Amino acid sequence: MLIVRRARVPVSLLPVRPVGAQIDALEPAVLCDLAIDGDRIAAVVPGGQLDSHPAAREFDAGGSLVFPGFVDAHVHLDKTHTWHRAPNRSGTFMGALQALADDKVHWSEADLHRRAGFALRCAWAHGTRAIRTHVDTGPEWGERSHAVMAALRREWAGRITLQAVPLCGGSDYLSAAGERLADLALRHGASALGGFLIMSGELPAQLDRMLAIAFERGVGVDLHVDESGNPQAECLRLVAEAVLRAGFSLPVVCGHCCSLAVQDHARAQSTIALVREARIGIISLPECNLYLQDRRGADAPFPRTPLWRGITLVHDLMDAGIPVACASDNVRDALHAFGDYNLAEVYAQSVRLAHLDARLEDSVRVVTRTAADLIGLPDRGRIAPGAAAHLVVLEAHRFSELLSRPSASPLCIDAEEIHRPSVPPFAELNDR
Ligand SMILES: [Zn+2]
Repeated sequence: MLIVRRARVPVSLLPVRPVGAQIDALEPAVLCDLAIDGDRIAAVVPGGQLDSHPAAREFDAGGSLVFPGFVDAHVHLDKTHTWHRAPNRSGTFMGALQALADDKVHWSEADLHRRAGFALRCAWAHGTRAIRTHVDTGPEWGERSHAVMAALRREWAGRITLQAVPLCGGSDYLSAAGERLADLALRHGASALGGFLIMSGELPAQLDRMLAIAFERGVGVDLHVDESGNPQAECLRLVAEAVLRAGFSLPVVCGHCCSLAVQDHARAQSTIALVREARIGIISLPECNLYLQDRRGADAPFPRTPLWRGITLVHDLMDAGIPVACASDNVRDALHAFGDYNLAEVYAQSVRLAHLDARLEDSVRVVTRTAADLIGLPDRGRIAPGAAAHLVVLEAHRFSELLSRPSASPLCIDAEEIHRPSVPPFAELNDR
């Protein structure tokens, strides 16, 4: 057993909000003592109230902020770390898709394993303990990528929980290819069906068929929707309508939802009401949106000053009681040139970009508890008896310190082991 003393735990990650305690809205965390027994958290009590145990080791967190292992609910491990050989020189969405399509000739099993494995080592060093990756999956290929993700899932078992979701076109579901792609992914252990949706008259039929295929196989869906600044893009609304039409009761998650933020207020609010009724969870990808959205004048030379941040209506969604998570999305590829699978950094950027400092207590859930719930891992992302014993001891005593210096490499506690993993050097990738 390991006893962790003086851990400053965000209150919204505890099993219950401390009764009677004065919680400062700008410092929504309290000192706790924790007991870890094997790979589970055994006890969480107010600081100073846990008795010593003759067989237990003790660790003094010294009042540092302690988070549960982070949960990255939306990444792309098949595309990651390709920037050096497939950069996006125009900075546009279409430029990114072309660069990545051209790069796919390099996606051998060894190449996928090296890049995705490197990404997992980065994530591990930054304290992430569960990841859901989307995987490009087409009628002619995808098998290899899913096989590599399945291999990595086995290699990382017990350290990082790795989920995969197939990424294909919504129209694929209208042909026989749809079932084949779904079964290909599920054969390799996929956690949900996925898709990149585009507005068209066929979209309702695509969604009806996709939900039917998912229901038959007992899995939910995790979709890419409305990743643009076009107010006419209303895939989110159509997904909500399809879910309600089908009475689909398995988990539904929609990522991006950028265009919601540029729509007429009343229209956006009515879409949010439908999303709530359909019990859809939202994953915002703030860093990727900031990079890719509002690249104005794509035909003109760089640079043009962007006028909006690209993120969805995070506060409106949260106000409606809709679960909202934030995640890394693309890292060092043509869709997002930067990143390091560092969720402390993603969290800090999300706070800044979405003004989540206005609801700091809730905000910590976007990369922990809510992210875990949305990908079906209810024992992750919280500090509670019975939860998985993955803790991140940050080099910060206050939120303002964490949000000002999120890149400091954290001390990690996994099961009863205390360690400080380090990120792999980029030089490992440079000649590939
Ligand atoms: Zn994505």
